[in-house]
This record gives sequence, C-alpha cells and structure tokens, in this order.
Amino acid sequence: MSGMLLIVSGPSGVGKTTVCKRLAERQNAFLSVSMTTRSRRANEVDGQDYFFVPQAEFERRIAGGQMLEHARVYGGHYYGTPAEPVIEAMNAGRLAILEIEIEGTIQVKRRFPEAVGVYMLAPSPTDQQQRLVGRRQDSQATIAERLSKADGETRYAQECGAYQHFLVNEDIEDTVEALERIVQERQTT
Ligand code: 5GP
Repeated sequence: MSGMLLIVSGPSGVGKTTVCKRLAERQNAFLSVSMTTRSRRANEVDGQDYFFVPQAEFERRIAGGQMLEHARVYGGHYYGTPAEPVIEAMNAGRLAILEIEIEGTIQVKRRFPEAVGVYMLAPSPTDQQQRLVGRRQDSQATIAERLSKADGETRYAQECGAYQHFLVNEDIEDTVEALERIVQERQTT
C-alpha cells in the first residue's frame, strides 16, 4: 500500500467534520464514510454523512471481517469504518482520512502502525458548548453527556499513545493548513 492513512478524532462539536471535508477537497483525498446504527438526523444523507444500517446488518459485517474498526459510542450505537474503500484508496496511493473516535483509532493503529493520528481540541469548553447547541441536532441531555465526556476523553487520547499530534481548532483554515503540513511531512519522509 502506498497511500497514507490520517485519523482525526476529538470531542464532539470541535469542528472535525468541517476540517476533514476541507482537507479532503484540497488534497483530493478519500474521506471515509462511516457506518452507524444510530438514527439519521434530519439534515443527514444516507451514504454521504453515514451509511445508516440496522444493528443486525452491522454485526453481520463485523463477523464477515468487513469493518476496518468499530466501536460502540453514545447510547450504545455502533460506529465503524467499512474496510474496502479505505484499502482501495490506499492501494491507489491516495490519502485516506478517517474521522473516528479513540477506540477505533487504537484498532486502526494496531493494524496500520504507520497511520497518523491527530486529536483536535476546542479552544475552550464554552466554545465547544456553543457549537453543540448551535447545530441544534442533539437534546440537552445528549449535549450534557457529550460535554462531560470530553475532558476524560482528551486525557485518554493523550495517554493511549495513538495520537502523534494535538491541534487546537482556533481557526478552521489554520487547522486545515496544520493538517496539510502533517501530511506533507509524512510524504517526504
Ligand atoms: P455523531 O453521532 O456525532 O455523528 O458521532 C459520534 C462519534 O462517533 C464521534 O466522536 C465520531 O468521531 C465517532 N465516529 C464516527 N464514525 C466513526 C467510525 O467509523 N468509527 C468510530 N470508531 N467512531 C466513529
């Protein structure tokens, strides 16, 4: 495989999706579409934001070895990365970007130790709260659960050893440029 695997994680509401989309456009990269068993939000498109599948279907794919990684996240829902498109992109020499959480990152790093892990942080908790509330997709209880999880998650991200870079997302453009430098650095070594 000649491509590069970039994993982006971070607390929810930190701006990962926007940053990953912009990076993918600029680098002509493959942006992985995850599979999930959680229900679709009103503004989400099946096959674009996620592949929304029932639990039995997800479990069938795990058993069939079709998932690169998977984890159970908020509310016990499954989230995972379909393996085939990622492997294909990498075989074609492309940059593949995964926006996944920590457990998934640890699994991917075990399989592909050369993958680069980046953990994104919000400038301040208030900032993250505003973004979560601003997107008006989650209930107050979900927002509270996500915010209280964020602190512990960040500590875990630092301790687990799966992330080589920690970026504070003060400004989307600056963060995309920082990621581009990380990609270029890897490609020239
Ligand atoms: P949301 O429900 O807000 O779309 O995503 C919730 C969390 O699931 C986020 O932290 C996101 O990074 C994580 N996630 C999304 N897709 C995947 C995936 O394919 N695998 C894993 N392990 N986590 C994912």
